[in-house]
Amino acid sequence: MSKASSGWQTPAGSALRFSPGQLLAGLDASATPGFNGDKAAAAALLFERATVVGALQEKLFANGRSGDTRSVLLVLQGMDTAGKGGIVRHVIGQVDPQGVDHASFGVPTEEEKSHDYLWRIRKALPRGGQIGVFDRSHYEDVLVVRVHNLVPPEVWSARYDEINEFEREVAASGTTIVKVALFVSLDEQKKRLMERLERPDKYWKYNPRDVDERELWPAYQEAYQAVLDRTSTDIAPWHIVPADRKWFSRLAVTELLIDALERLNLDWPPATFDVEAEKRRLESA
Ligand code: AMP
Ligand code: MG
Repeated sequence: MSKASSGWQTPAGSALRFSPGQLLAGLDASATPGFNGDKAAAAALLFERATVVGALQEKLFANGRSGDTRSVLLVLQGMDTAGKGGIVRHVIGQVDPQGVDHASFGVPTEEEKSHDYLWRIRKALPRGGQIGVFDRSHYEDVLVVRVHNLVPPEVWSARYDEINEFEREVAASGTTIVKVALFVSLDEQKKRLMERLERPDKYWKYNPRDVDERELWPAYQEAYQAVLDRTSTDIAPWHIVPADRKWFSRLAVTELLIDALERLNLDWPPATFDVEAEKRRLESA
């Protein structure tokens, strides 16, 4: 393929959107759906798109300052080493930090455990004008919780519908939800975990529990499949992002974010003062 034709052949939003019946079992985590190009092409494009996502975010923020209550929420899910942290650094890192409401969800604290599982999620929803980022989310309550039987099956199995209802409410209140599931292969995960053990600057990312979770891969696959089958809705569809090539997953999520921001049809908020009168006033000040 010539260099001139490298780029998105199909927009990321459609190339990556989960389609009903799609099976995770057949997923190639090193694929680059919709994108025709190599690492260098992706890096060049990411550099260009950073400006676009930055400008759109500033417009969203400006509108928020003027009372617009709309926001965008990026939900990131994926197994350990799938690259959720890298997405935050490299994709969200492209925008003004004051416009980002970031939240990561780990093992619930005692206080969190004393509430409904959506309690901590609701508290972390983005304010108007903000881009919210969830590094893990309410989906852990049907993933790790299901795999480890942390609550009885009748409890977790009711959550798919509860989550759909919750997301319907969130969307109705003006938040565009962008759901991204990052999929790394078992081989690539092993490499990334091994790297964490070989590099002192990566020890902090290593958790001995990750190896136990790895052994539960088939159960997680099944739990992820159920999430996709049951919670990919029209207002909040899932996107499946193969994550063995970080340059692809980062570019892909940047495109999904741009797509969501563009759909808001943002304009700069109009002046709330008489521009000409202010110019005259300033000139003589
Ligand atoms: P990390 O994202 O690497 O910091 O790890 C966070 C850990 O918290 C992961 O092992 C998650 O599975 C776990 N976690 C997140 N949410 C929940 C939850 N609702 N219940 C139990 N474990 C959770
Ligand atoms: Mg981890």
